[in-house]
Amino acid sequence: AVKATGVHKAFGSLHVLRGVDLTVMPGTVTVILGPSGSGKSTFLRLINQLETLTAGSIEVDGELIGYKHVTKQGKDMLQTLNDKEIARQRAKLGMVFQRFNLFPHKTALENVMEAPVHVAGVPKSQARVQAIAELQRVGLGDRIDYYPMQLSGGQQQRVAIARALAMKPEIMLFDEPTSALDPELVGEVLTVMRSLADAGMTMIVVTHEIGFAREVADQIVFMDGGVVVEAGGPQIIDLPQEARFKDFINHVL
Ligand code: ATP
Ligand code: MG
Repeated sequence: AVKATGVHKAFGSLHVLRGVDLTVMPGTVTVILGPSGSGKSTFLRLINQLETLTAGSIEVDGELIGYKHVTKQGKDMLQTLNDKEIARQRAKLGMVFQRFNLFPHKTALENVMEAPVHVAGVPKSQARVQAIAELQRVGLGDRIDYYPMQLSGGQQQRVAIARALAMKPEIMLFDEPTSALDPELVGEVLTVMRSLADAGMTMIVVTHEIGFAREVADQIVFMDGGVVVEAGGPQIIDLPQEARFKDFINHVL
């Protein structure tokens, strides 16, 4: 599970997140909706420790991220984790961005093998077998030797998903994975995400794809102004309560 409690994030005087509480249960899909600048990406980046918290806490699997409790002179204190401990926590999370960020001079297979071999130390022969399986899982078993520029945007994004899966994450974070794609390529990426959800992956997805949210999400969270304005089951898309959420839905539908 992911549990955020009273999460605040400020960049200098810009107070982006102002007390976000959110729980994501194992095996469920949470879709985060919200206007541009509401702090959605910042929230995902905090979970993945690409940013540090200003206040509040985030737990992944019951473990505080970024800090540990230590006892000093009989007092319970929080100590920041070292790089190795942070890397261990981050390994539980896979992240997919709007831009695919594949290595352009590596094939699909080499892109997917990269982190298992160079970060996790998996032997090459084994990483290769696993990478092929992940590429098959995203429907690219016949494209393993293609370079990113030889693939469509949707195929590149599916390689990026396979690359994240290759590190065997417990939780997948998606930050507008289809926003950079031509409309006709959006469906193939959403299909892969849906099959991941069906396989029981815990997912947090920032997206404007309302249809996907309605059909796949267990939980919808609408953020605006750095707070959760409304949250609930997928039915809230069709029955929004808060004025700001109603406005948002009316604009995106
Ligand atoms: P979008 O839908 O456009 O992706 P978002 O909800 O993901 O928006 P964020 O990217 O989290 O919003 O940004 C929230 C606010 O924080 C914005 O005003 C942004 O300019 C600011 N911000 C984000 N990252 C930084 C940073 N590293 N330094 C300073 N300001 C930042
Ligand atoms: Mg964003």
